[in-house]
Amino acid sequence: MTTPHPIDLPTLARVLRAALINAFGADGEHVRQTLCLAEEAGEFVQAARRYLGLARTPGDLAPVAAELADVVITAYVTAEAFGIDLPAAIAAKAGEIQTRGMRTPRVGDTPDPTAYGPFAVTCPACPDRVWTADTDDDALNIAAVHDDTHHDGDATAAIARLERN
Ligand SMILES: [Mg+2]
Ligand SMILES: [Zn+2]
Repeated sequence: MTTPHPIDLPTLARVLRAALINAFGADGEHVRQTLCLAEEAGEFVQAARRYLGLARTPGDLAPVAAELADVVITAYVTAEAFGIDLPAAIAAKAGEIQTRGMRTPRVGDTPDPTAYGPFAVTCPACPDRVWTADTDDDALNIAAVHDDTHHDGDATAAIARLERN
């Protein structure tokens, strides 16, 4: 088995998946990978708890990094098993995450202009959301991505200028 250099995760996942099928067979692959991903997440939590001083046994950062790498690699192998194009799914998610706002104001909250950049993107169809940007271009981009991902490309989001106090 060769490791691709530089690391190309989808290619690595195909190589590892073939080796796993060779070792365990193709039956039950989806369940096997699902359990494996949960196990790796648990191993990451154990390493992080030890590093953060929350567990009986202390630990270093290196095992945290190694287990986090296991989580990502296993996620790619699991995607391969399910026939999921993970890079495409990540790209779609990235657009959604970047434009949905990091925190929804509670009902009745008045947004504090000092907490935002000079530009705000608002959407009449999504009244509980506000996104902020430091430049006009960033605001336009956020509005365009929001419209694409939430309103089928209809230009719904609006840009407002906020003043920093
Ligand atoms: Mg592990
Ligand atoms: Zn909207």
